[in-house]
Amino acid sequence: MSVEPLREVIARHGLSASKSLGQNFILDRQLLARIAAIPGTLEGSTVFEVGPGPGGLTRALLDTGAKVVAVERDARCIPVLAELKEEYGDRLEVIEGDALEVDASGITDGELHIVSNLPYNVGTALFTGWLDGDEWSPFWSSLTLMFQREVAMRIVAKPGTSAYGRLAVLAQWRSIPRIAMKVSRSAFVPPPKVESAVIHVVPREAPEGVSAATLSRLTAAAFGQRRKMLRQSLKSVAGALEALERLGVDPTRRAETLSVEDFVNLARLMDERRA
Ligand code: SAM
Repeated sequence: MSVEPLREVIARHGLSASKSLGQNFILDRQLLARIAAIPGTLEGSTVFEVGPGPGGLTRALLDTGAKVVAVERDARCIPVLAELKEEYGDRLEVIEGDALEVDASGITDGELHIVSNLPYNVGTALFTGWLDGDEWSPFWSSLTLMFQREVAMRIVAKPGTSAYGRLAVLAQWRSIPRIAMKVSRSAFVPPPKVESAVIHVVPREAPEGVSAATLSRLTAAAFGQRRKMLRQSLKSVAGALEALERLGVDPTRRAETLSVEDFVNLARLMDERRA
């Protein structure tokens, strides 16, 4: 059975793209299938998709054999997704609402993958939320996420580069992110102003004895004034200068020269001091 082209689905439902909802749709079914293949075999597992929109990626994910739970904020998309549900039945569940308010941790007891062509305005908040928490026992097995390419590069950045900063540290201390695919502006309707990239992220074992809150505070201060020496930028962070000294880190260094491990070790010493 041939599948209706997404351009026609969108026209039939009068889905003019809304800028405020970050709507840049992908209509090329081959490209969508390539994105859906990034997490690996999905058959038998559950996928949480943020922002299915007209359902192009949703269908590609369903075609892998996965069950999909999709949350969409735009009420205009719900009838389109209802059509998809008629085809795929119980394997598709649609939640109308704001992904920022959905607790995805309770979706399944089985394996959960998160896959999304993210709305850019909430992408970073969702991503850092999925990496947050006092305890590190991630409810997801992988994240496959479309970002503006510049943001994707900051997530995977290595020390000593201009892209390296707080986002890299907060991402890499608990996960292993990689660029899985670069996607050009012309792949979207309408084309966004900038290029995009899909990142693939798997959790890693968390370093012990470090609180996410301390690391967050430390990196906010260190990279908030990234041109300054650490002895200046960390001056007002309780215990940070002492931790630098105990770790033997030269306080005249700048934040971007410290590795993720350095930040984790500093945060651990700060937590030990407070305990
Ligand atoms: N998945 C579709 C695709 O790949 O063509 C659409 C992707 S579009 C970049 C982002 C989608 O996220 C839109 O459908 C938009 O309505 C939806 N969206 C925006 N903000 C949202 C939010 N806070 N929660 C859930 N969905 C949201």
